[in-house]
Amino acid sequence: MAVNDQTYLDSDDKDYLDPPGILNELKRGLQRFLDGTSAHPHATEARRHQLLGGQHPQIAVLACSDSRVPVEVIFDAGFGDLFVIRNAGNTNTFGSVGSIEYAIEDLKIRLLLVMSHQGCGAVKAAYLRNQAFSPSLTELVNDIKGGLNQNGLDTNDETSYERACVQHSMITAQSLIQSSKIIKRAVLDKNLLVQPAFLHIDPLSIEWLDTFYGKT
Ligand SMILES: [Zn+2]
Repeated sequence: MAVNDQTYLDSDDKDYLDPPGILNELKRGLQRFLDGTSAHPHATEARRHQLLGGQHPQIAVLACSDSRVPVEVIFDAGFGDLFVIRNAGNTNTFGSVGSIEYAIEDLKIRLLLVMSHQGCGAVKAAYLRNQAFSPSLTELVNDIKGGLNQNGLDTNDETSYERACVQHSMITAQSLIQSSKIIKRAVLDKNLLVQPAFLHIDPLSIEWLDTFYGKT
């Protein structure tokens, strides 16, 4: 099988896939990485030259900025394959919502992966008491804290931290859908599949949580 037959398609490719099919592309990329058979696709000079005409990724990813979450490495993706937004705690901010709305409306992405991870420091910060943060970081941490507490994860109870790291992807996904008419409409119209997921870093595995597709 040629590399191009087993790796990411562009949204203007004739073999355009539906959102569940695109999710399978992502899962195949993860499996190649786990199997030690990464294809390192779309890394050539020719690919970069082709992309000068414009990008056509089918997948957007909202992940944590944490250096232990190298998105393209984990999913064996290359130039033009993933539209990646990262911030501390893969959090719903104006920047992340606006970037996702751009990806939906202009790039026509069909899959949004929202990925939290094991040992997230931003989620941990929501559990700290009497800790002084800068105004901007306080706002970010309070957003995470509010989301956790509204979803039954008590940030005064440290035993819920590991569960919070898992659930934070689901909480952010729900929050994005509820705060953006564009994201919500795309999900309801089945133009976009939103997949919350949890990255277990060591040993590396991904827990795929319930998707939003045709319903919110
Ligand atoms: Zn993190």
